[in-house]
Amino acid sequence: MQKITAIKGMNDILPDVSDAWLWLESQLQSWLKSYGYSNIRTPIVENTNLFVRSIGEVTDIVEKEMYSFTDSLNGDSLSLRPEGTAGTLRAVIEHNLLYNATQKLWYIGPMFRHERPQKGRYRQFHQLGVEALGFTGSDIDAEIILMQHDLWQILDISNLELQINCLGNLDERAKHREALISYFEGHKEHLDADAQKRLYSNPLRILDTKNPALQDIVNNAPKLSDHLGEESMSHYANWKKQLDNLKINYVENHRLVRGLDYYNLSVFEWVSSDLGAQSTVCAGGRYDPLIKQLGGGDNYAIGFAIGLERLLLILEALNKLPRNTACDIFIANMGDDTAMYSFGIARELRASGYNVVQNLGNQSFKSQFKKADNLGAKFTMVIGENEVKNKQIMVKSMADGKQLSINHSELALSFPTRSGTKLEKEI
Ligand code: ATP
Ligand code: MG
Repeated sequence: MQKITAIKGMNDILPDVSDAWLWLESQLQSWLKSYGYSNIRTPIVENTNLFVRSIGEVTDIVEKEMYSFTDSLNGDSLSLRPEGTAGTLRAVIEHNLLYNATQKLWYIGPMFRHERPQKGRYRQFHQLGVEALGFTGSDIDAEIILMQHDLWQILDISNLELQINCLGNLDERAKHREALISYFEGHKEHLDADAQKRLYSNPLRILDTKNPALQDIVNNAPKLSDHLGEESMSHYANWKKQLDNLKINYVENHRLVRGLDYYNLSVFEWVSSDLGAQSTVCAGGRYDPLIKQLGGGDNYAIGFAIGLERLLLILEALNKLPRNTACDIFIANMGDDTAMYSFGIARELRASGYNVVQNLGNQSFKSQFKKADNLGAKFTMVIGENEVKNKQIMVKSMADGKQLSINHSELALSFPTRSGTKLEKEI
């Protein structure tokens, strides 16, 4: 029979890499907690209209990357979420979470975009997203950048470049758009098919082109910064001043426009030199107008998303992923009653906070030691029939090969309760 395989661009995360995912997720969770963010979990499937209305009709995502389908049971038009902001805001508005309140929210999970799969670009990928809602002024814009800067320090990544820009407000963007259209009309014969198509629908996106032949034209295009009014200018200036005071380096990139329609004022991307063409690992910005657009009234919003596959690729390239330390103690056992005796010892050790793997099935001690090695166990305990009879345990330190026989009654002396056991971690 023909084998059924996974869908192209949608990857299994197998046990040899899932440890790195779990480790990264736990680092992310404590970092988010330290900045006062709460978790929100929304459905993976939403009404297609939600994405069309928020991301924008003439964006890459909505035009050609969304997995949309009709629910054959009731005819609804649904989509797999291509990003997390739209669903989060839909939930926040639906449940009135901004009534006399601000919200600092984070989510993590799979997103879906029908793109050409390659290194760092998949059809199912994972994002960690953060949304700070209800905060005006540039303080939150600065805190968000500080927070990201902190994360790179926690993860020991030092080679990311921060690029920033100011997208102004809708009026300013409209003026810039007119200037862009007339500029690009003057160069129409040099534009590629994609840019020609965008010329009247979304000329801002032409600035984002990856076509090398268009770089000169795009570099000389009218800049949005020439159309910014006083309020936008001062928001941008304040933000930059705060980043300067925090000693966070940035590069101003006037062509940074982001691929989604809903942004205004501050936008930013963290770019890595270790990722080839798929270089952006974290991106976001302000999107004040979106709340109103989704029926939530006037309000303020800023957020960002980190591509977790890309972050793991960077950590791997820099050799910053921790070694697998899942197994502290392996219990080798062979002979009558040794399995039962080992269960008891394993339970005691687990209650004291150790990760214990007990051998199951009577293999030779040689093959059991090999297993312990493969698991990276720090200690191997050996239980044979004599050990059961004498209530003794043979302990071998795997690092230096030293062996020691201890009395079962003294197990807790040799392996005391660990600090940082489950209970303490929860506090
Ligand atoms: P790109 O310019 O690389 O296509 P984007 O602007 O479409 O990125 P965003 O919508 O801003 O990306 O998503 C935030 C982050 O999610 C990106 O910076 C990236 O790290 C990650 N990301 C986006 N699309 C993919 C994908 N198809 N596969 C893996 N990661 C992705
Ligand atoms: Mg994209």
